[in-house]
Amino acid sequence: MIAIRAALQRISMTRKIYSRTFLMRYWKVTFKRLPAYAMAIYPFIIFKSKDLKNNKRLVNHEKIHFLQQLELLVIFFYILYLLHYIYNLLKYKNHSKAYLNICFEREAFANDGNLNYLKERKPYSWM
Ligand SMILES: [Zn+2]
Repeated sequence: MIAIRAALQRISMTRKIYSRTFLMRYWKVTFKRLPAYAMAIYPFIIFKSKDLKNNKRLVNHEKIHFLQQLELLVIFFYILYLLHYIYNLLKYKNHSKAYLNICFEREAFANDGNLNYLKERKPYSWM
């Protein structure tokens, strides 16, 4: 896993793609019945309420998911996300533990408080 990540990080082209801010443009959507505060479905961020749109940490969290999604051509992110959740659910038999231990959530929760993280982040940091 570490060797793969190191190899991927050496591909400088991926870095250039991340630095292009147009890929990080997004549309804000509000959906009151969302079962979470927010959700990233590239290129949309869905918020449970309007006031959450100004929560910088939350937006940062969802943007970390954007980068993860772009790295996996969006569709493979959802496949891996779901598989890791199911694996964790069998392992922990607890929704919260299963969710918080999804590799993508671990990276996002560990770094969403750092508002410079998107600039500093190395590709495939969720591995
Ligand atoms: Zn998340």
